[in-house]
Amino acid sequence: MEEKETLQRIVSHCKEYGFVFPSSEIYDNLGAVYDYGPFGVELKNNIKEYWWKSMVQMNDNIVGLDAAIFMHPTTWKASGHVDSFSDPLIDNKDSKKRYRADVLLEEKIESFRIKGEKELNKKGIALTSLPEEKGKASRDYQKYLNLEKAYGEAATAVDLKRYKELIEEYEIACEVSGSKNWTDVRQFNLMFGTKLGALDETSTDLYLRPETAQGIFVNFLNVQKSARMKIPFGIAQIGKAFRNEIVARQFIFRMREFEQMEMQFFVRPGEELEWFEKWKAIRLKWHLALGSNPEDLRFHVHEKLAHYANAAEDIQFKFPIGFKELEGIHSRTDFDLTEHQKFSGKKLQYFDPEINQNYVPYVIETSIGLDRMFLRILSESLKEESLEGGETRIVLNLPPALAPIKVAILPLLKRDGLPEKAKEILEKLRFVGKTFYEEKDAIGKRYRRMDAIGTPYCITVDHQTLEDNTVTLRERDTMTQERVEISKLEALILEKTDINTLLRKLV
Ligand code: ATP
Repeated sequence: MEEKETLQRIVSHCKEYGFVFPSSEIYDNLGAVYDYGPFGVELKNNIKEYWWKSMVQMNDNIVGLDAAIFMHPTTWKASGHVDSFSDPLIDNKDSKKRYRADVLLEEKIESFRIKGEKELNKKGIALTSLPEEKGKASRDYQKYLNLEKAYGEAATAVDLKRYKELIEEYEIACEVSGSKNWTDVRQFNLMFGTKLGALDETSTDLYLRPETAQGIFVNFLNVQKSARMKIPFGIAQIGKAFRNEIVARQFIFRMREFEQMEMQFFVRPGEELEWFEKWKAIRLKWHLALGSNPEDLRFHVHEKLAHYANAAEDIQFKFPIGFKELEGIHSRTDFDLTEHQKFSGKKLQYFDPEINQNYVPYVIETSIGLDRMFLRILSESLKEESLEGGETRIVLNLPPALAPIKVAILPLLKRDGLPEKAKEILEKLRFVGKTFYEEKDAIGKRYRRMDAIGTPYCITVDHQTLEDNTVTLRERDTMTQERVEISKLEALILEKTDINTLLRKLV
């Protein structure tokens, strides 16, 4: 029997086994900021490698970039972040707890929908019936329809007063105080500000970038010209982004400092929707190649499009906190490049020799949070398994290519020359990736520790090894053990754990 772990179990597992620690823990943590430990950083780097190679190595028309976190402040005027990168927040006057008003309303809508659909099911009314019929048959379903419509209108008009009215009208209460005593709704900009320069009078106000994409847009011509790229082509980047999130209680799902893996793909105007569909399929394949249950991944169409987009969908994953956004795929039109042209006074156009025309390219963006991807991998890998004899084991059955440690080398005993032999084997396996050597504790206990950090293979060195140069190779998922010649180990381990095995599934 296997049981999916809840978020809390993931959090404790990450801390205990050196994957993720709360930031500055000895000073009682810093909210929604996390540090990656010895095994976490390996897993994170492997995810990055999988993404980077799938984009940059496997596509001749995609190149990389590593832009700075600091950017000229006008960048954020042009991109619209200064004026509109904000969330509507509301405080409960009794508990002093702060909420996102849009999230409160969306959660209420969802709870009416769930209750309504349950009632319809009970009454035997098909969910495919007309909305009016469903509304007539269930009061909650009618409330769902009403609130969804009213919220949609308020969101489109960015009407914060209406948000508050709806929160009051639908009697949404604070989960801490239980009261409905709310402040007005205010907009809160999510960008972190800082200063460049030592003197107050001459220093410049800067922002820590809230997304990596703008570094790509402002370098569009530098990259296109220096790397001799022809449209359609893409620029990929991995880097930190910063957002002063209001609600940040979901571990590494929503952080204030996080990492994004973004790719902006530049296309001819008019061809963007075709490319949008292509990228949706490519990205889904990338996710599925990890061996995930297809039912845990789904597309979610944005009903309310951002001002710059003409199509947008998220790839959602079934996290322990429900189906949530993991990656965004957006058709951003020519908005960003056109805005940067306007604000900088510099042309950001491409001369297309095939059609003999100059134009501002359209853009398809794929944007995935590295930390969310990390959480997804842990959510689907962490299992508690019941074994024969009533025993249980905690196992992280990570895709082998992503595992932090590829193989552990364990001498059966701490004497008789076994440690020396084990270290000799370890030297032979340097090039399979990160290895782990351990001689303390009983062998069963050492296997369990390796299971808990997701190590695909363990090698046990015993007395027979000294005689015939064979070892026991134990496989993590099946726990099967076989006798293998030392000379065959490298190829055997690489066959399963090398990143290229994973990348080959994409072609
Ligand atoms: P959400 O609606 O969950 O706030 P978003 O729509 O603001 O996300 P985007 O701006 O599209 O997110 O960013 C692209 C990706 O970056 C997201 O799909 C997500 O994986 C990741 N991401 C965004 N905000 C955070 C955060 N605060 N912490 C961790 N990852 C994040």
